[in-house]
Amino acid sequence: MKPKFIIAAAMLLASAGSFAQAPQGSKRVTVLATGGTIAGAQAPSGGYGYKSGSFDINQLISAVPNLDKLAVITGEQVVNIGSQDMNDEVWLKLAKRLGEVVNSPNTDAVLITHGTDTLEETSYFLNLVTKTDKPIVMVGSMRPATAISADGPSNLYNGIAAAISPGARGRGVMTVLNDQIDYARNVVKMNTSEVQTFSSVNRGPAGLTNTGAITWFAMPDKRQGMTSEFSVDGLTSLPRVDIIYANAGMNPDLIDAAVKNGAKGLVIAGVGDGNMTAPALERVTAAAKAGVVVVRSTRLPSGIVYRNNEVNDDKLGLIASGELNPAKSRVLLMLALTKTRDRARIQQMFYEY
Ligand code: ASP
Repeated sequence: MKPKFIIAAAMLLASAGSFAQAPQGSKRVTVLATGGTIAGAQAPSGGYGYKSGSFDINQLISAVPNLDKLAVITGEQVVNIGSQDMNDEVWLKLAKRLGEVVNSPNTDAVLITHGTDTLEETSYFLNLVTKTDKPIVMVGSMRPATAISADGPSNLYNGIAAAISPGARGRGVMTVLNDQIDYARNVVKMNTSEVQTFSSVNRGPAGLTNTGAITWFAMPDKRQGMTSEFSVDGLTSLPRVDIIYANAGMNPDLIDAAVKNGAKGLVIAGVGDGNMTAPALERVTAAAKAGVVVVRSTRLPSGIVYRNNEVNDDKLGLIASGELNPAKSRVLLMLALTKTRDRARIQQMFYEY
């Protein structure tokens, strides 16, 4: 089966390619593919929905006109899954392969295709563990490859253009979707189905794309890549960290269940500024005393969770997530726990990364 977007994309990019501003290039980009809707196929007519990860990467690359004029592209399938099935094992496999590929003298930049559901987590994980200044760009799509007006081809095209752009170096892992470039640390999926779903809510984007033309904004100001202390070298698993969602009348039972089942860290998706009911606060304090590292984040889409604001973190032994949402807090806490259980040090990591 061939992606139908060959036709749609050919119409879109045959014209677009004629005014693409990226130079004809000899830069070498390795594409690591993991699946997602960008590789998805719609069900036969009358069938239900679509299936992520149906096409392999070479089918996707060859379906985008003029992509081969931007760079010398090599595709490699790492896994082919919907990103709702992304897990620690795949993260470690992907991070190790990315480390090899990006540090090879044969690669100038890496593009990773990925589902959008957990892109904000995988991108942040890779951003923290990959030792390089070379550009790493991640792309996905909201519509499957067979959809009318699929967004995958333009995201692939702009993703490669961003990856080979001279201004891309030293910016860590980035995402490119719907003409917007975002830093892995900041990017959040905001909408279940619209093509404009990714946003760096507290910060604004890293740049913009326009049919291969790239405009860059400010450089990132947090530790990552070469300045990160984290690495996947020697890791075969990651410490278990669970996220627990707070609500009015929050019952603390799930906190106890997570700890009983082996969680080494907890992230509370708190109400407001990382708050939770008094019984829940009592249980996380007990968990912290027993050695579990507890981070207060927020279920809100934007804002900062401040230390010692409504909750006395110093007294209760808790950590405030700052700008990081629960999913990103979980990623940082998992990596932090590979280094230390010292709360002051982990709080400092939440300021620095
Ligand atoms: N469920 C899909 C995935 O994350 C959604 C997408 O890619 O847009 O793989």
